Amino acid sequence: MATSTVILLVCLLGTLNTVQCQHEEANPEDVENNGEIDSIPVEENYTVSALIERANKNAGQELDDPEIVEGDIAVYTGLQNADPCTSRGCKWQRSSNGNVYVPYVIANQFSQRERAIIEKGLQSFAQSTCIRFTRRTSQKDYVNIQSRSGCWSYVGRRGGEQVVSLARSGCVYHQVVQHELLHALGFNHEQCRSDRDSHVRILYQNIIRGLEYAFNKINTNNLGTPYDYGSVMQYGRYAFSRNRQATIVPYPNPNSVIGKASQMSRMDIMRINRLYGCRR
Ligand SMILES: [Zn+2]
Repeated sequence: MATSTVILLVCLLGTLNTVQCQHEEANPEDVENNGEIDSIPVEENYTVSALIERANKNAGQELDDPEIVEGDIAVYTGLQNADPCTSRGCKWQRSSNGNVYVPYVIANQFSQRERAIIEKGLQSFAQSTCIRFTRRTSQKDYVNIQSRSGCWSYVGRRGGEQVVSLARSGCVYHQVVQHELLHALGFNHEQCRSDRDSHVRILYQNIIRGLEYAFNKINTNNLGTPYDYGSVMQYGRYAFSRNRQATIVPYPNPNSVIGKASQMSRMDIMRINRLYGCRR
C-alpha cells in the first residue's frame, strides 16, 4: 500500500470563520465582492484554498472520515508525503490507445446542478490531456465522488474504491473539483514543491499553530515545469492564517498575484501531460 496519504482540505480552525458561506450554490464570481472582511480582501475568500478551508471546517469529525492531521494535508494511515508516490505506482494506468481512463461514480446525494458542475470538472481534463474520467462499470480501481464533510481526496491511485469528498456545502465549484481530482491523479500542492523557497516565503509565525507542517516541502517531481503562482494547486496568500496575516508571500516580488486560479493553469495541464506521458 504505497499511497495512503489523504489530502484533506480542511478548515480545521477556520481563519475565515467570520465569513459565512451564504451563497453555497453561488459561483464565486457572482458573489458580491466589494470591500474587506477582517482585513483580508474579500476577493481572497474565493481562492481555492479559502473555499476549501471554509468548507472543511468540520471535516474529519465523522466516524468514517480519514483522520485529519494537517490543515490541508491529512494523513490517512501513516504516510507523510504525497506525490513521490507517482514513482512508486500510484499513477493511473495508461491504456494501449494512449489514454488514461479513470473510472468514477458520483453519489446520488448531489442535485442536478451540482452534478453538472462535477461532470464538467471531470470532463475538463479530456479537453487538454489524455486523462479520461469515465463512468465506472466493473473496474476495480475507481474514484467515488461523495458529499462527505469537507473537500478532500487521496493523493494518487490507492487501489480499489477511493473517495473524493466534495461537500455540497462549499466544495462544488469548478476549481475545487479540478483541485481534488488533481490530487487523485497524484499531484500535491504547489507551495509544497521542492523548489518553492525560490518562489515563495512561508511565514510560519502566521500559520495556525499545529498546522505548520502542512507547509513543509515535499520531494516532488516537478516535471520540468516552473513554479506556478496561477496553479489551481497553489494556495492563497492567507491560507491557514491564524492572525489574518499572510502565510504565503511570493518571492522575490511580494506583490505577485498568487493562488487565485479559477481553473487549471496551462502549467497544471502540462504537468498532467508529462506525468502521464500524454501524446500531445
Ligand atoms: Zn489540496
